[in-house]
Amino acid sequence: MIYHNTLQFALHLDEQDALKSFRDEFLIPKHNGQDAVYLCGNSLGLQPRSVKKYVQDQLNAWEDNAVEGWFIGNEPWLKYHKTLLGPLSNILGAKQTEITVMNSLTVNLHLLMVSFYKPKDKRYKILMEAGAFPSDQYAMESQVRFHGFDPKDAIIEVAPRIGETTLRTRDILKQIADNADELALVMFSGINYYTGQLFDLEAIAKAGHAAGALVGFDLAHAAGNVPLKLHEWDADFACWCSYKYMNSGPGGISGIFVHEKHFADDTLNRFAGWWGYRKDKQFLMAPGFEPENGAEGWNVSTSPILLMALHRASLDLFEKAGGLPALRAKSETLTGYLEYLIGEVNKKHGEDVYQIITPTDKAQRGCQLSVVCKRKAKAIFNYLADNGVIGDWREPDVIRLSPVPFYNTYTDVYKAAESLFEALEAVK
Ligand SMILES: *Cc1c(COP(=O)(O)O)cnc(C)c1O
Repeated sequence: MIYHNTLQFALHLDEQDALKSFRDEFLIPKHNGQDAVYLCGNSLGLQPRSVKKYVQDQLNAWEDNAVEGWFIGNEPWLKYHKTLLGPLSNILGAKQTEITVMNSLTVNLHLLMVSFYKPKDKRYKILMEAGAFPSDQYAMESQVRFHGFDPKDAIIEVAPRIGETTLRTRDILKQIADNADELALVMFSGINYYTGQLFDLEAIAKAGHAAGALVGFDLAHAAGNVPLKLHEWDADFACWCSYKYMNSGPGGISGIFVHEKHFADDTLNRFAGWWGYRKDKQFLMAPGFEPENGAEGWNVSTSPILLMALHRASLDLFEKAGGLPALRAKSETLTGYLEYLIGEVNKKHGEDVYQIITPTDKAQRGCQLSVVCKRKAKAIFNYLADNGVIGDWREPDVIRLSPVPFYNTYTDVYKAAESLFEALEAVK
């Protein structure tokens, strides 16, 4: 598409936008009485308007039925989680049996490591991207320590080449192959939280398996953002959170994927709980854990119904919008427009103050652009916030801006670029 740097053009794109009605399904935060330009869906997605009803329905069920709510009513809680699996399987490209919804992301990462980090003899190392989200780094470090290894030795980090900010797929695959004899696990994020780089997960899974390792993905920034095909790509396991692009509330419920090829493997370790027990016998309360078949066998604790209600409100909107294919089509032009406008701001200013470190290639990014501010970075970020443009700040000089196709407009993006230009004048 050929973009133009005018408000008129932005308004025209909004008019043509097939998903434009979805903005009204979300509650947009205000700044000085006007809708803020909210570009922070990478950190916390906005609240769907319908959430209150979904939650209220469950509060009513609790009020009316109390403990019987597990078994009676329109949506008995015992099966409530099942209503999430259809939409989630579309978002993740997985079979419904390969998914379950539970806990929080980092907790799930640990539980999955219990099953899928299986160091044996020489094969005990984990390969991951350098600069992964801190929680993932801490999880990996503590897991290798738990098995008696030194993180400095047992964790291999793939870093960008000197002078570069993102990874080359070729380098990732080569490092996997070079360490083939020692790898127990390849663990990658889908999209790096800092740079916004989307990795070639299919190629990574293939290379990991060719090296004899298991392969897992943390999809915190990818789920609900870009189309995924976990089953087809043959990932062994994955986890995600629901509060970023899946708009399911602060600290919202997480989920896991386990590839069906592992269902029958009874050698896998798991930290079990009664909610993962085979459903037909769960209430016999018998000794000796027997897992439910499928990902549900990894469940540990009672379903948190209110968190699931938040999640469901948002997932139903994904279905209504036509799923990831429709959202992604808009996302590519929306983020492309922001990229174009940032280039225009630099041109108009006569200096490349804003350097986008996220790949230009659409196949290597989702909604987010990470922008390095070459001077007065924090002051510029504060100027944006004071003017109702909400992005987020990452030390030492990065502003992350994530236009989300569900609720952001081309006009939002235009206004953000205007503020980026004004900031250069204002914070001299
Ligand atoms: C957001 C995010 C987390 C946060 O994990 P919680 O357990 O939900 O606090 C972890 N890892 C990655 C890659 C993230 O982007």
